[in-house]
Amino acid sequence: AEWTEGRGWHSARVMPRGPLSLDPAAAVLHYAQEIFEGLKAYRTETGDTVLFRPDANAARFRKSAERLAMPMVSDDLFIGAIEALVKADRDWFPAGPEGALYLRPFMFASEAFLGVRPAKEYRFLVLASSVAGYFKGAPKAITIGVSRNLNRAGPGGTGAAKCGGNYAASLVAQAEAIEHGCDQVVFLDAVEHRFVEELGGMNTFFVFDDGSILTPPLDGTILPGITRDSLMTLARDEGVVVREERYAIDQWQADAASGRLRESFACGTAAVVTSIGKVVDGDTSFIIGDGGPGPVTQALRERLVAIQRGQSNDPHGWLKRLF
Ligand code: PMP
Repeated sequence: AEWTEGRGWHSARVMPRGPLSLDPAAAVLHYAQEIFEGLKAYRTETGDTVLFRPDANAARFRKSAERLAMPMVSDDLFIGAIEALVKADRDWFPAGPEGALYLRPFMFASEAFLGVRPAKEYRFLVLASSVAGYFKGAPKAITIGVSRNLNRAGPGGTGAAKCGGNYAASLVAQAEAIEHGCDQVVFLDAVEHRFVEELGGMNTFFVFDDGSILTPPLDGTILPGITRDSLMTLARDEGVVVREERYAIDQWQADAASGRLRESFACGTAAVVTSIGKVVDGDTSFIIGDGGPGPVTQALRERLVAIQRGQSNDPHGWLKRLF
């Protein structure tokens, strides 16, 4: 769909995938006025096609739009566009048992001008792509590398928005972590450089020996993950104490050494839940638990996956059936 000042959203349509035509002065190419979302459509065992919490993605999209001075996208437009796209090809088939249809709604400033101000023309698109499960076989544990001097987001910045610029800012740190043999980077806060925030595309959780769970609070520099929120809800449903508190990297290392910390995991739409087995911090590193996926991590993952796949009841009404 297209948005122009004074007219609002118009020209919504489903089209075959192909190149976009943009003026070289389109604001997005110069000032990165762009936001996006990521969610999945699943095919359940009974053959239904469902979306997982699309209303939560729509709400986060609106928050991102507000932060980047972009127009409002209603639930009707956001979810309606996804629904129209998924229904356009009802025969898409998930690749493998964990497969899904990944959906990427995004909006960018298309107005052609050079100068720093919010644009007056935008486009909203949704891209669909069939994805296989993140893991082949049993989920493994990943190794993550601490970024000590590069930050993803700081106070007052755009860290809580899902905008392309945040990811551009994280690429060098991600590449450095991979160069050092890690699977992912983990970012620390930009003020004291010691509180664990999130990975390049996943939120973080910590499981303690008293059975409680901790995740860093949403204080404006972390993306409010929908998987994070879902797991907090499922854990609390089961009576688990879930704390949203800051957690320092040195504490993480000390707790892993003393055994007070039992498990750590990362979560997001793409991989759902991934165990963190090892943390590399410059010349030092530490192992969490026995280095493999722990029982709490696996149980939470299975609980969430069962809901997404329609294999268990959906107490919070998270699934939206399309057809
Ligand atoms: N943090 C970042 C930086 C991300 O890109 C993502 C993926 N959207 C997440 C966390 C996890 O969010 P969600 O659970 O909504 O996918």
